[in-house]
Amino acid sequence: MSQPAILIVEDEKKLSRVLQLELEYESYDTQIANNGKEALLLLENKQWDLVLLDIMLPEVSGLEVLRKLRRTDQQTPIILLTARDQIHDKVSGLDLGANDYVTKPFQIEELLARVRVHLRQQKDRNELIIGDLRVDLNTRQITRSTTEIVLTPREYDLLIYLLQNKSIVLTREQLIEKVWGYGYLGDTNVVDVYIRYLRQKIDKGFNEKYIQTIRGVGYMIKDHN
Ligand code: CA
Repeated sequence: MSQPAILIVEDEKKLSRVLQLELEYESYDTQIANNGKEALLLLENKQWDLVLLDIMLPEVSGLEVLRKLRRTDQQTPIILLTARDQIHDKVSGLDLGANDYVTKPFQIEELLARVRVHLRQQKDRNELIIGDLRVDLNTRQITRSTTEIVLTPREYDLLIYLLQNKSIVLTREQLIEKVWGYGYLGDTNVVDVYIRYLRQKIDKGFNEKYIQTIRGVGYMIKDHN
């Protein structure tokens, strides 16, 4: 199994480097974003297991990063790194959907403990959610609103891959590779067929359609809120 991936968003280079070393020593995969803009880009392009987010950042503030992220992703645990005098920001951060915060200067052990707690909670939860669609990865139970949805294994795999890449456009080739496997030699039209099956089960009868066709490119699952 791959190690949990942690994004460190922190503009103080010394601190981000220490965090990276400590986290890598604990065998986490890490990457550093030096400002809010970089953070947004990295958040868009990769699924993170946890984010350490400094509030006072150049370019785009930590709270703004948080607000943008939570529009499409309500699940990734976020721990804010705040200064002692930023009480107002902590409150706003928690209101905006941050899971926790640590106040600088903090003991690295305290931060590592919080990281473990949130990763464990996330793992226990083990759900993928978009709007009112919910997939329990432990039981493979799928519900939309109050309706239970039954999928074939292939439809399930396709849905999971779309959900893991929420709001990211996926090409037919990517979907084939990830869902059908590298060895698949058939027509990529099979993707269109399965997307149609999924739509029938996930979106049909609901006002809000989550599965979107991106003409000439592929597909994406997206919450409109
Ligand atoms: Ca800072």
